[in-house]
Amino acid sequence: MRIAVLDRDRCKPKDCTHECQRFCPRVRAGDETVTFEDSIYPRIVENICSGCGICIKKCPYTAIHIENLPEELDKDVSHQFSFNSFKLFRLPIPKPGVVTGLIGQNGTGKTTALEILAGRIQPNLGNFESPPDWSEIIRFFRGSGLQPFFERMAQEELKVVHKPQYVDKIPKIAKGVVEDLLDKVDERGLAKDLVDILELNEVLDRALNVLSGGELQRVAITAVVARDADIYLFDEPSSYLDIYQRLKVAKVIRNLVKEEKTVVCVEHDLAILDYLSDHVCIFYGVPGVYGIISHPHSVREGINIYLDGFLPDENMRFRPESITFHALPTPSDWASEEVIIEFGKMNKSFDGFSLEVNGGEIHRGEVIGILGPNGIGKTTFVKILAGLIEPDEEEIQNNDIKVSYKPQYISPSFEGNVRMLFLKTIGRVFRASWFKSDVIRPLGLDKLFDQQVDTLSGGELQRVSIGLCLGRQADLYLLDEPSAYLDIEQRLEVARTIKKIIETRKAAAFVVEHDIVAQDFISDSLMVFEGKPGIEGRVYPPIDLRNGMNNFLKSMNVTFRRDLKSGRPRVNKLNSRLDREQKEIGEFYYITKREHQ
Ligand code: ADP
Ligand code: ADP
Repeated sequence: MRIAVLDRDRCKPKDCTHECQRFCPRVRAGDETVTFEDSIYPRIVENICSGCGICIKKCPYTAIHIENLPEELDKDVSHQFSFNSFKLFRLPIPKPGVVTGLIGQNGTGKTTALEILAGRIQPNLGNFESPPDWSEIIRFFRGSGLQPFFERMAQEELKVVHKPQYVDKIPKIAKGVVEDLLDKVDERGLAKDLVDILELNEVLDRALNVLSGGELQRVAITAVVARDADIYLFDEPSSYLDIYQRLKVAKVIRNLVKEEKTVVCVEHDLAILDYLSDHVCIFYGVPGVYGIISHPHSVREGINIYLDGFLPDENMRFRPESITFHALPTPSDWASEEVIIEFGKMNKSFDGFSLEVNGGEIHRGEVIGILGPNGIGKTTFVKILAGLIEPDEEEIQNNDIKVSYKPQYISPSFEGNVRMLFLKTIGRVFRASWFKSDVIRPLGLDKLFDQQVDTLSGGELQRVSIGLCLGRQADLYLLDEPSAYLDIEQRLEVARTIKKIIETRKAAAFVVEHDIVAQDFISDSLMVFEGKPGIEGRVYPPIDLRNGMNNFLKSMNVTFRRDLKSGRPRVNKLNSRLDREQKEIGEFYYITKREHQ
C-alpha cells in the first residue's frame, strides 16, 4: 500500500507553482493524481499515485512524503486525521493488572494512541470522511482485547484518567492551591498518603502557578492516581523529576496494577520505562507520516528489540543501526587539555536555602555532567557560572569567559518562524557549513525552519533551544535538562551533538541531566550535588564517571545491573541479591564482572 502525507505547516500553495501537480507523470498522462479542487492544498490520491517520488523532489518546501508499506497493513489502519495526514496502524491493547509501556520516536502516534484509549479521539479506522460508529469499531477489533475495551467505552462504563505530557501547561487551565485541587479529586482517599510518598507536603498551600516543573509533575501524578478509574494513562511521567522521584513515581504507578487497574504509560527514560512496565509496545514508522504499533512484548525483550531496531515477530527492521551501551566509561582525551575555567569556593544563600561550591577546574573539550536531586542548587550553580546570579562570595579566576546557557524551562516569546529565530540569534554561524552538518542536520532542525516558534511541540522547542545554545560563540556551554520531551534517538543524538561541538569549538559544557542512561552518553566527568533538597546543597570538583556515578547512586541508594544482551543499565530491586552484592563491592553502575549481568 502507498501513503502520501502532506505537511501542512510546510506546504505553501500560494508561494509555489504547484510543482507537485505540474511534474507528476500521472497527471501529465491525464489522471487526477494531484488536484487542487476543493482546497488550497494539493490532494494526492494514494491509490492512483505511482510512488515515483518526483513530487517529493520537486516540492520547494519539502512538504510531501510518500511511503510504500506492506499491503497487509491496509487492514490495520486505526486512525487518520484527514486527507493526506498522519496514519496510525493498530493500537496498544490495554490489559488489567498490567503496566503497558509505550516506546518510540516522537511523532509516531503515541499521544494519538493515548487520546484514543482515553476516549477523546474516536478511532475512525482511516475513514475520516464518514467515521464509523461504535458498533463498526467494535466489530473491527473483534477477537482482540480492544473489543471488550471499546464495548465498555461505547456504553460509557469505562472511566479513564490521563496525566498529560506537558505539565507546565497545567497552571493555565487549573487555578488555585494544590491542597484544594487534590481534595477535589481524592475519590479513593489516597491523596494524603501520596503527598507523603511524593514529598509534596511543603507545597500543599502553594498556588499551582508558582510550582516548579518537578512539583507540578508530582501533583499531576497524585491527582490522577487518587481518582477512582478503570484505566490510568500517563504521558511521560518522569519529565523534570530527579532519579529518586522517578523511582518513587514508578512505584506509585505500579501499585495501581495490584488493584487490577489498567495502566498505560509513555516514557522515554529507558531505566524508568524498564522499572515501570510489564509489557512494552513499540511504535515505529516515519515521524509525522505514519506509525505502526507492535504486538506487546515482555518489558526486557521489548526494550531490547527497540534498541536493536529489529522486530523478529514481524521480520521488520525499523532502524538501520542498533543502539549499543558500554559497560565501562569511555576514556576521554580532554584531560591533557588546558584549563578553561578555575573556580574556588563560592556560596550563595536564599531565604531558607544555601549552596556551597567547593571549587573546581574545567578543561577545554570536557563535558561535565551534573547530577543531584531537585532543589539542591544545580540551577543556581549554573546561573552563577552564567553570570545570571551573583554569588555571595566568589573566587572565580579567569572570569572573562563567554557563556551560552539553555535554561530548564523554555518559554518561547518569539514571533516568527524557526529560521528567523536562528538568523536573529546566531546569524553568521547559522549559515556556516559546519553548523549545518554538526548541529542542524543531526538535531533535525532543518525540518522545523518554516514552523512558527509558538506552534512548536515541547520536543521541537527543546531541540531548537539546544541548537541556539550551541550556535552561540562561547567558552562554556550550560545545558539544563536537554533531554526533557525528547525520545531516545533524539537524546542520543543530542549527546553526540553536544560532545562534537564541545570538541571542535575547544570549549567545555555543563549538562544537568536526570536520565542516567543519557547522562552516561553525554559526560566525560561528573559533578555530584549533595545535601538536603530545598535547604542546603554542596558540590565538589568534577570527578571521573565511575566514581561520580557511584557517589551519586550511593546517595540515592540505587544500583544498576547490565542486561546481558544489550548491555543497557537496569535498575536493581532494592535489597535483591544483586543490589546487596553491588553495594558491598561499591559498584553502583559500571559492572565488569559477567556474573553481575
Ligand atoms: P507522539 O506522541 O509519538 O510524538 P503524536 O501522536 O503526538 O506522536 O503525533 C503523531 C502525528 O500526528 C504527528 O505528525 C502530528 O502532527 C499528527 N497529529 C496529531 N494530532 C493531529 C490532528 N489533530 N490533526 C492532524 N494531525 C495530527
Ligand atoms: P535544582 O536546580 O537542583 O533543582 P535550584 O538551584 O533551582 O535547584 O534551587 C535550589 C533551592 O533554592 C530551591 O529550594 C529553590 O526554591 C531555591 N531558590 C532558587 N532560586 C531562588 C530565588 N531566586 N529566591 C529564593 N529561593 C530560590
